[in-house]
Amino acid sequence: MKIIAIGRNYIDHAKELNNPVPKEPIFFLMPDSSLLRNNQPFFYPDFSNDIHFEVEIVVKLNRLGKNVATKFANRYYNEIAVGIDFTARDLQQKCKEKGLPWEVSKCFDGAAPISNFISLDKFQDVNNINFRLEVNGEIVQKGNTKEMIFKIDELIEHVTKYMTIKIGDYLFTGTPSGVGPVKIGDRLTAYIEEEKMLDFVVK
Ligand code: ZN
Repeated sequence: MKIIAIGRNYIDHAKELNNPVPKEPIFFLMPDSSLLRNNQPFFYPDFSNDIHFEVEIVVKLNRLGKNVATKFANRYYNEIAVGIDFTARDLQQKCKEKGLPWEVSKCFDGAAPISNFISLDKFQDVNNINFRLEVNGEIVQKGNTKEMIFKIDELIEHVTKYMTIKIGDYLFTGTPSGVGPVKIGDRLTAYIEEEKMLDFVVK
């Protein structure tokens, strides 16, 4: 399976990193070795001194698709999770300055903690779902899927212009503002609406 991750999909987050607001979606891929499941601890890697959290809604794709039009894209998923796109901001900054790919900063082992998936049947509107991240019990990021610059269905249309999506692929849909560093000992909890979905520590 592959993990497709979207960058700069919330205006406030693009601005906080001094990035332009994109005119079309930006995506990159992560390997499945980045996933961290079952609330396993995240081990702070020794190659970075500036690991940032980015909380994101994750969509599980459940059909094979290529050139999927926005209006049909809702047929390609029925479950969501919440995930963290851990980013080694110090390494990413160097990559950006040199115009290099940023995999070293995003795709390392454990960079993508993820919750269990829940059915979208629970929700009235996929484009109106609240989610948030707390670090040590304090809210650090709060978002709603309606704030996405490109909605889930538009993301699927864009990505499938270039690559086939397959059953079981994941789509990380971008992070709202409020990203920040973690440190060893922090406890991260992430919620979809009022349901606690993720709860793990940094070691
Ligand atoms: Zn991200």
